[in-house]
Amino acid sequence: MKKINDFIWETHGIHAGTEQDHVKHGIDRLEDIVDKAIKAKHPSITFIIHSPRLTSFRYIAERDTNVKFIRGNQSYLNYPKRIANLREKYGDRINIKYGVELEWMGDDLGLQWSRSKIFQAEDADFVIGSVHFAPEGLPYDGSKEEASELLKIRGSLEAYWDGYFNEMIQMIECFGDMIQIIGHIDLPKLNVEMPEALLNFENSSHPLANKFRTLLEVIADRNLSLDVNMAGKFKGVGIYPIQNILRRANELQIPVCVGTDTHHVRYYGLNFKEGLEYIYEAGYENYVSYSKLIPEKRTIFDDHDLKVKYTVLNKGIEMLNQRLTPKQRRIIPDFSFGGSYSEFVDIYKNATGMGDYNAIRIRKSDKSITISNETPIPSNDRVKGLFSEHLDEPGVISSLFNTLASEGINVETARLKSNNDGTAVAFLTLESENGNIKNAIEFINGTDVGLFSSLTYRDDAVLPNYYRDGVYLLEMDGVELKLALGKKVILTRHDNAPGVLLVLLSALASKNINIIDFRLGKKNKMGYSALAVEGDNNVINNLLSKLGPHYHEANLIEFHSM
Ligand SMILES: [Zn+2]
Ligand SMILES: [Zn+2]
Repeated sequence: MKKINDFIWETHGIHAGTEQDHVKHGIDRLEDIVDKAIKAKHPSITFIIHSPRLTSFRYIAERDTNVKFIRGNQSYLNYPKRIANLREKYGDRINIKYGVELEWMGDDLGLQWSRSKIFQAEDADFVIGSVHFAPEGLPYDGSKEEASELLKIRGSLEAYWDGYFNEMIQMIECFGDMIQIIGHIDLPKLNVEMPEALLNFENSSHPLANKFRTLLEVIADRNLSLDVNMAGKFKGVGIYPIQNILRRANELQIPVCVGTDTHHVRYYGLNFKEGLEYIYEAGYENYVSYSKLIPEKRTIFDDHDLKVKYTVLNKGIEMLNQRLTPKQRRIIPDFSFGGSYSEFVDIYKNATGMGDYNAIRIRKSDKSITISNETPIPSNDRVKGLFSEHLDEPGVISSLFNTLASEGINVETARLKSNNDGTAVAFLTLESENGNIKNAIEFINGTDVGLFSSLTYRDDAVLPNYYRDGVYLLEMDGVELKLALGKKVILTRHDNAPGVLLVLLSALASKNINIIDFRLGKKNKMGYSALAVEGDNNVINNLLSKLGPHYHEANLIEFHSM
């Protein structure tokens, strides 16, 4: 029997408070929560905040106390900064995620209002779209009195729910790419019954059942996730959503994220295990969390080997997604699994197998990434190429490529490895030995004396073992690279012609960006490079934007997932 985790990588996590605003909502000191999570040895914690509401959307309690500035606009605006400060303070001890719960308030002023609030979510890890209020100005999750007032206006239980689902569908259409997750899809059950047509929606011919099936299909078609929300259990109405909704979502391959949606430090971590048991019961084997809008797969089970495999999978997904436009990122990729990852074939319904090839391949929009945590076995092939031993400093590799380019020599494949002692080794294969290699070596030995301790061309040598333990980018678009991933990786796809790669290496050298590891490959007329680097993101991104027309792709990949 597999053991279920007692920790959740939450999405709809703990609500951040209103800080100094006069309306108190949610917890007040974020530090207290983070301390509690660290004490519980949790690897991560997720904060969420409501986007502020228009004053016409108020709960009775707020009207009665004449509260006008709903849920603290000021604290909302300060939220990203507060999270940044927390990350600075606690960054090495816990992974801090944050998201926004965007309020749906109709498609006129409410939509513009929400758009104006989305800028604060720009660096957020995710945005949840939630309907808390009916256009009539009454909340679904307010008091019983407010609910019965809305019920009276709408006339029947079916009409009550029908209105709610209409608003959900409209929200999805209008918020479009602004959201990744649908919040508590059966929220109204907090205050009113679920009619038979809804409880039995799979089999019912009632228009409400049809409407609800359509809603789930819209969610699936848009690649949105469903929020499995423990607040319903906390409030005594059962987890949102009910089991049969979740089972249907699983059939439609809608990913789920899990969260407690809690509002007080006292309840942080409550019902974690129950949340995972609940989705497992509905047939799910995993769930998702988000980093920088990219979904990460998480296992339900407390199994170290499985977690390692998911880490590799998430790195691959992140790498592929960061090569794509934000719009393409929303599309769920295709997967192939082989070797020790083969068990995933059954979990991902359209996945294919790769036999003994111990790797994960992820494909989308004619791009692919193949990744593995198996250290490649060095080949005993005899090789022909240039061997270098040199100082591990920014600019040294660039200098080598510079000289080769000046002699018209194109580097075809490259392997570089830092010895982590201030020196590094490299092996380059050259497109054609045009007779100038001797000149190039002499030139370097003359001008770059002190940088290179050894530089030799051999035409029958054993390839040294450049591999160490790690997670490897084995291939990019089917081109073998075998790069050990670092914290930051640059991937390029460029014209395979003399001097093109030099542009990238010179750019990096100009800003002292150190190359830790480097692989070069090619497919027809296209060159591929993968570099593990160290340096400032803004500086690197700025360089990558200026490489010129021979670069068809140049991305800095950063790994946020754990
Ligand atoms: Zn909510
Ligand atoms: Zn919430």
